[in-house]
Amino acid sequence: MGIKVCKFGGTSMADGNVILKASKIVEADAERRYVVVSAPGKRFGGDIKVTDLLYKCSDEYESGDIGAFQNTFEKIRTRFLGIEKEVGKELNMQSALDLVEKEILNGAGRDYCASRGEYLAGKVMSAVLGVPFVDATEFVRFDEEGTLDEKTFDLAKEVLSKYPRAVIPGFYGLGIDGKVKTFSRGGGDISGSIVARGVMASLYENWTDVSGFYACDPRIVDSPAWISELSYEELRELSYMGANVLHSESIFPVRSAGIPIRICNTFRPEDAGTYIVKTSTRDLRENVVTGVAGKKDFTVISLEKSMMNNEVGFVQKVLAVIGKYGVSFEHLPSGVDTMSLVIDNAYLKNGVQQTIIEEIKEAVHPDKIYTHENIALIATVGYGMAKNVGTSARLFTAISNAGINVIMIDQGSSEMNIIVGVENEDCAKCISAIYNEFFK
Ligand code: ASP
Repeated sequence: MGIKVCKFGGTSMADGNVILKASKIVEADAERRYVVVSAPGKRFGGDIKVTDLLYKCSDEYESGDIGAFQNTFEKIRTRFLGIEKEVGKELNMQSALDLVEKEILNGAGRDYCASRGEYLAGKVMSAVLGVPFVDATEFVRFDEEGTLDEKTFDLAKEVLSKYPRAVIPGFYGLGIDGKVKTFSRGGGDISGSIVARGVMASLYENWTDVSGFYACDPRIVDSPAWISELSYEELRELSYMGANVLHSESIFPVRSAGIPIRICNTFRPEDAGTYIVKTSTRDLRENVVTGVAGKKDFTVISLEKSMMNNEVGFVQKVLAVIGKYGVSFEHLPSGVDTMSLVIDNAYLKNGVQQTIIEEIKEAVHPDKIYTHENIALIATVGYGMAKNVGTSARLFTAISNAGINVIMIDQGSSEMNIIVGVENEDCAKCISAIYNEFFK
């Protein structure tokens, strides 16, 4: 018998009734032995996720506005007391909430505060299923850089082997300082993957509110094609570029062990979902492109200098400047005498952009340096592209027929993605032009 790890996202934990639905899914299959949960998410449009309320509490506490903190904390209290009532279990939620409030007011820190949605949701699921609660701090470890420590996998194996079944809160673990530390937003998906690797699961089921991946965002194209299967790499590219179904880093723990991920819909459990596997078995001639995704708000800093090709260390000097300001780049397209840095706008706020440009001028004396702001990056992803002649011709013809100006082009060395930079306002139009070319 295999072991399945089920991770339930925020919408699957949003209220007591949905939690009961999720628990029925777990109980329907004896192989579903380990359950990872997110904090309660939105119940309806305009609702606020518990994690967002917790971050607000933390901000209010930090700014010294204890009245505002208490107001916001009351909303979290109301949510969990409502959940306790709906699931019909005696959970002692009131005192658990009192304790959390006290800890925050004692200065437990922002990550501790943000993590409590998952912690309390885990307690609820554990009581509903009658399965032990195992805290993520027992095995999820971060290193000095704040990234996941490799020793997590052995620790997870050691700790979880003591429990034939367990409920584990997602999103956090223990930092190097012994304090609670969270992943980036949506990181519960990474926790699910860690547990799957720790128990060497046969399948990691990620339960959410959609029936898998679509070839592009359904808000841009009406009823886009559903993807039955994609590779870890394709998933990483599409998630990173804005396909919001699964955290882009969640493939790393399961990838080396070859554990497949299945995206499933809590509200339509009968749907097949999308499988994410080591090597996709889809016919690469028929499926040239797997999906198209896009992200807005990038800046391209371009440099020109005659004989750049002969100048040893040119790129290194430029990268040293941005590295000094903690700025990382997304892409680095280059020509003989030109190079461009594509950078997320978020890094360039508060005068950083101007400072970097000045320092680059000093460091490498370019003939010209100019910026193009508010660029959207559109990634067309698929292993089939490497095997099919004429894919890029079709792609660029479709973009040009839609009257869209391409500002930048980059192709990954694996030939599984072609990235184009267009004006922010052309983002949706470009995605739909590419989708229509390859899927209609
Ligand atoms: N609750 C966290 C968030 O909203 C983590 C997660 O749901 O995966 O980002």
